[in-house]
Amino acid sequence: MDCIFCKIVKGEIPSKKVFENDNVLAFHDIQPLAPSHVLVIPKKHIASMNEAEEEDKELLGEVLLTAKKVANELGIADGGYRLINNVGSDGGQVVYHIHVHVIGGEKLGGLNV
Ligand code: 5GP
Repeated sequence: MDCIFCKIVKGEIPSKKVFENDNVLAFHDIQPLAPSHVLVIPKKHIASMNEAEEEDKELLGEVLLTAKKVANELGIADGGYRLINNVGSDGGQVVYHIHVHVIGGEKLGGLNV
């Protein structure tokens, strides 16, 4: 499958890893939008939240808890941070392998929903 993030999981494309276990991987975004910008992905290929199934419930919970762990390790948890999951083209999704952006390290502007 021609998926950039699957290639990162397999080590075919290099990444700056922050955390890894059997189920999830966290690595620095190649184009950071803030002082800290990490992506957390499940190793299983799920294209987007639109394709997530009931059976993925535990795995997606682990992605979110990994995002929290990453924020702590990056030292941005106390100041606060933003978790973003873009879905589909109107949602701004570019890479179709589900991922949560962990963004912080400064006061964030933009949409405050
Ligand atoms: P999306 O817009 O799909 O929510 O976010 C995709 C993110 O993946 C973007 O922030 C982009 O900078 C990042 N990205 C795309 N290709 C690569 C890559 O090869 N390596 C890394 N580390 N990040 C990537």
